Amino acid sequence: MKAVVLEKCGGPEELHYQDWELKRLEPDEVLVRVRACGVCYRDILDRSGKFPMIQLPIIPGHEFSGEIVEVGSDVHHFKVGDRVTNLHRAPCGRCRYCQKGDEIHCEEAWPSFGLTIHGSYAEFVMAPAGALVPIPRELSFEKAAPLMCTAAVALRGLRERAHVQKGETVLITGASGGVGSAAVQVAKLLGCRVIAVTTSELKIPFLKQLGTDEVVVSADGIFHKKLLSQIPEGVDVALEIVGSITFNSSLRSLRKGGRLVLIGNVASMRIEINPGYLILNGLTILGSDSATRKDLEQVLEWVASGTLQPQVSVKLPLTEAAKAHRLLESRQTTGRIVLVP
Ligand SMILES: [Zn+2]
Ligand SMILES: [Zn+2]
Repeated sequence: MKAVVLEKCGGPEELHYQDWELKRLEPDEVLVRVRACGVCYRDILDRSGKFPMIQLPIIPGHEFSGEIVEVGSDVHHFKVGDRVTNLHRAPCGRCRYCQKGDEIHCEEAWPSFGLTIHGSYAEFVMAPAGALVPIPRELSFEKAAPLMCTAAVALRGLRERAHVQKGETVLITGASGGVGSAAVQVAKLLGCRVIAVTTSELKIPFLKQLGTDEVVVSADGIFHKKLLSQIPEGVDVALEIVGSITFNSSLRSLRKGGRLVLIGNVASMRIEINPGYLILNGLTILGSDSATRKDLEQVLEWVASGTLQPQVSVKLPLTEAAKAHRLLESRQTTGRIVLVP
């Protein structure tokens, strides 16, 4: 098959489109013909060498959709022709975390697409069957592919971690990106008032069209004074997608007793925090990673019913993976970029 292969970490030029020989399926695996693959900021961190566990050479990509073309001998709940998308990993269902319903932290789910097992910048992906989720007929492959790592991740952060309530005000950083544009819609579906932070005035119409109540434009990520002049009481919840660059402004935008939920850190830098500020204002900082099957099924349902509109702004052939990375790094795009084999 054809695939994009990363031999060594570095710039976009390290992504090589080439022939790749598929191995035989393991009994618990399924072979999926990739129809679409989301390009995520994590792909850039993977490619740049920010994750020491990466096993090179590797096929990147962890957001795919496609149809099953072969099933392993132990797989009985999928058949050839089924349309599927994926979770980051396949939870075991047996370990102490899975037993208490916390499948995100499964101790056995080490295989991670694009990092420790080959991902979906390819014509086919060999996937553990437990990582796959069926997609409804009415949903296109291109819209389905990025949903897990955008809308489902946002849903988990807001609903399961920050426990947002109807009527609360939610601040979202990086709001015009793939995760952000999904998060704005998810927060609206959960009944919240949404304040979006973005880097350019040009992105305001896009954010308004998604349902954003108010937009704060900040090119340098330091926006709390501007935000507090618009919303003096502060926000109930901040969904931090950008991470270190905007973190302290998000923290200072919270009302007393507010919660900050961190789901991304694009610059992959450390953060300095004033502990006294947290103590005196009774603030909560939460980390949230990935999404569960339940989270993904919920967003698939929303998209199938037309309540949630996935924002796929650019579609490129698989041969142009390096271009897709350059585009994403330039921060000029809105929504998700999707590769099509
Ligand atoms: Zn992703
Ligand atoms: Zn487990």
